[in-house]
Amino acid sequence: MNKISNSLAISDQAHSIHPYTNMRAHERDGPMIITHGKGVHVYDSEGREYIEGLGGLWSVAVGFSEPRLREAAMRQMDALPYYHSFAHKAHEPSIKLAEKLAHMSPGDLNRVFFTNSGSEANDTVVKMVWFMNNALGRPEKKKFLARLKGYHGITVAAGSLTGLPANHKDFDLPAIPVTHLTCPHHWKNGQGESEAEFTARLLKETEDTILAEGPETIAAFIGEPVMGAGGVITPPEGYWPGIAALCKKYDILLVADEVINGFGRLGTTFGCQRYDFTPDIMVVSKQLTSSYMPLAAIMVSEQVYDAIADNTEKLGTFGHGYTASGHPVATAVALENLAIIEERDLIGNAARMGELMQTQLKALEGNPIVGEVRGVGLIAGIEVGKKDTAEAIGPMGVLAKSVYMNAQEEGLICRNVYDTVALCPPLIVTEDDITQMVERLTRAFDRTAEWAKAEGHI
Ligand code: PMP
Repeated sequence: MNKISNSLAISDQAHSIHPYTNMRAHERDGPMIITHGKGVHVYDSEGREYIEGLGGLWSVAVGFSEPRLREAAMRQMDALPYYHSFAHKAHEPSIKLAEKLAHMSPGDLNRVFFTNSGSEANDTVVKMVWFMNNALGRPEKKKFLARLKGYHGITVAAGSLTGLPANHKDFDLPAIPVTHLTCPHHWKNGQGESEAEFTARLLKETEDTILAEGPETIAAFIGEPVMGAGGVITPPEGYWPGIAALCKKYDILLVADEVINGFGRLGTTFGCQRYDFTPDIMVVSKQLTSSYMPLAAIMVSEQVYDAIADNTEKLGTFGHGYTASGHPVATAVALENLAIIEERDLIGNAARMGELMQTQLKALEGNPIVGEVRGVGLIAGIEVGKKDTAEAIGPMGVLAKSVYMNAQEEGLICRNVYDTVALCPPLIVTEDDITQMVERLTRAFDRTAEWAKAEGHI
């Protein structure tokens, strides 16, 4: 380690609290310091090059160091570095971005509210839905339906919607009324059913829950079209249209959390389009700015908007908003980022490269520790487990963590979530990048399989 990075590491170990990190382990082991990135690659302080196989945190659509995004930020910094949008104030980039998002979105999701993060956006969704139902004179209609392994963020309301134990345990969550339904993962939860039978059971469970709780108490159903952070879980055939029909039948709002899926990840502009449903509310972030700037957006239908707007007329205001809602630099970067995605046909590229990636990854099914390879477009999960029974191999998460560490040594950054290794590369990937990524991951799995054999896990 050189002198500068060594002193940075010591300082980091002494002062920083890292998200999603074992703090004591970090004090012992220190950070991996990333100094710069270009295209699909990032570089650490030792000068090592990695393919960023997770696009940062599922988010860098246009790749690293895209000069047009830097220039868009600089131009906006010169023109107006900050202004807010409270109390009728407005500025050009946020006006244009809201209009652009309304045009891109399916259905009549024509109204847009900006936040800084996906978590804040989902907290805002909860508050908007509650505000709407109070306005409509049905104050008992407040509960949410979500799914186990769903990820919607970590703030108090969003963290409650998330269906992962690590986000609840010892945080006293859930703190809002939410019921977590079965995770729609056929291989793991299918109980010997066909995919169609599994879908039918999930829909029955959803309807039974609505009826048991009382439809007049259920406000909204929230879900990611393809689950990301819970382990890249693709839904079974017919699941989303079935959920959408139930929401309609019982007057329940359908919220699509497109924070990972949105802007091309699945090879379609939004994930809901890939799975044939139109939500009442849609949340986007991450690839909206390629994460160069923090920004998220909530898009709501005219019907939802009207109910909320009528109430603000009565109350005199909508008592909700962030200092940086619609930040001019973030929204200017988002506009340029969306322009690049369109001009370079990155959604088409995601569809084409996605097919190649999914095909190449299938070969990993030959590895003795791999239970399932799944994915759609440019997102994939390779789960460690026994193929036939979906039982775990070794202690929870240990083998997937070993694959992740080995991949890093092979020059590939991916992510381990429980027993799954996830890939979600930038949308600009080429055939050559995909091939290299899969080769490096294959070597990582081979090394872990050898170790698992030596340890007696297989
Ligand atoms: N929703 C989904 C689907 C996400 O994947 C994430 C972040 N991984 C969030 C919400 C929360 O976003 P943030 O980390 O920006 O708060």
